[in-house]
Amino acid sequence: GEAVKASKTSLFLHDGSEVDWNYIFTARSMDDATSSHVVRSVLDKGLAGWVVRQRQGAIIPDTDTDDRWHIFPDDTLPVRSAMCVPLMYSEQVVAVLTLVHPQPNHFSEYHLRLMTIIANQATVAIRNTQLFARLRERQRQLEAVLLSVPDMLFVLEKDGTILLINTGAQQILGLANRTKAIGSHLADFAQHSDIFLTVVETLSNRPPLPDEQYSFEVRNSTGRQQDYVVNISAWEDPTVTNGGYVVLMHDVTTLRNLYRFKDEMLRIVSHDLRSPLAVIAGYADLFQQDLPADSFMQEYVESIQRSIERMGNLLEDLLKVRQIDEKGLHLEPNTPLADLVLSVFQGAVLASRQKGQQILNQITIPTDFVASVDPTLLRQAMENFASNAIKYTPEDGTIIIRAYLIDGRMVYEVEDNGIGIPPHALSQVFDAFYRVNARQNASISGAGLGLSLVKSIVERHEGQVWVKSVEGVGSTFGMWIPLYS
Ligand code: ADP
Repeated sequence: GEAVKASKTSLFLHDGSEVDWNYIFTARSMDDATSSHVVRSVLDKGLAGWVVRQRQGAIIPDTDTDDRWHIFPDDTLPVRSAMCVPLMYSEQVVAVLTLVHPQPNHFSEYHLRLMTIIANQATVAIRNTQLFARLRERQRQLEAVLLSVPDMLFVLEKDGTILLINTGAQQILGLANRTKAIGSHLADFAQHSDIFLTVVETLSNRPPLPDEQYSFEVRNSTGRQQDYVVNISAWEDPTVTNGGYVVLMHDVTTLRNLYRFKDEMLRIVSHDLRSPLAVIAGYADLFQQDLPADSFMQEYVESIQRSIERMGNLLEDLLKVRQIDEKGLHLEPNTPLADLVLSVFQGAVLASRQKGQQILNQITIPTDFVASVDPTLLRQAMENFASNAIKYTPEDGTIIIRAYLIDGRMVYEVEDNGIGIPPHALSQVFDAFYRVNARQNASISGAGLGLSLVKSIVERHEGQVWVKSVEGVGSTFGMWIPLYS
């Protein structure tokens, strides 16, 4: 305004994100409502509106004779000439600058050129300000999201310097203010918890590569005992050479306590119930021996004995789960695999024939083939597949036991045309204590432990289990294990 000796200058600014013009900077102070009324009228009927529509600057030598000049009834400022230039950014008018003077013919073409140059500079400044404001807004949003993550989050530079932490991390570090941690090193907090020590050591010994992430579980033993799953991943910013790591810590103490509780329960159940059960079984046998063979009580005693046997089997399963968890494998090199599978098949033949089922042998492992496996556990796993197939297949059904070698692995499959498994249950059948339609299948005995045992045994052998099944049609349970001599 001063450069062209204008008596008043005003700028209408378009807020980039809105369709409306909603800002005004003027020489006069106005409240929001008046300002928005003025802007709207001038853009509708006045010179600024004309400039926005034409996308070019204009001079009004005499406002009395030019109807582009919009007069407000309460406007006391004497105006006789005016000049208006658009501020353009990529073909869009982002603002308009209006200058006025009390004398007619005040503004010249030279003034218009000068203002156009200034307007171009101003556009860049305005654009930068708007971009900056938007960036700040985004940054605030992102920060709010990060802060609201319930886990503990640390963003680190490559050397372990803390760039950002969230509220959860602030709490575990015992800081009054989040910003206090920024710039310090994660190792500085090692005294708070040995987890940080583990994280720092991991980062220096085996830093994750870009796109790599890994997690491990740690127990904090300083102060209150807590268990965390720590997830470390690398972050890279192509514009910054260094990048760094993101450490996310998830509190799994409750889950771990539950596991410990479960282990303790398993221990109690498997050990402490066995002795009283043995006593009951012993007395039941004695009782039976003393009963006359034709006594009606014989039937009751047999029922007691069957229940004891079922309970005994369940305890056996529980004990095995624990043993596998605790002891691991006893590998025997040179175990003849064909013999092992054949003995499972022969055991199944007896049980399936009793149920009137047909059972087919498709074992093609060479008889002289030997490998290093835990024969007791592997037999147990294979028997579980077979006994399930017999259990969950009606009389006169067919069961196929298949075993073959391929690509350095042994594959073992048991196929049946029994009741099958509904799709929703397929992913859970290998979970401990899971039974499909537990109520409907209540007549079929089982605790839902057999398949979890199989999975655990096979995974200990570095193998995998799977199941394919169609409800009402049949199931195929399979496993493979890699073979080592
Ligand atoms: P369970 O002691 O109940 O047999 P498992 O862990 O061996 O426990 O099996 C889990 C569940 O998977 C069973 O309860 C049954 O519902 C289902 N299942 C296992 N094998 C078969 C099969 N061959 N056909 C149909 N359902 C099966």
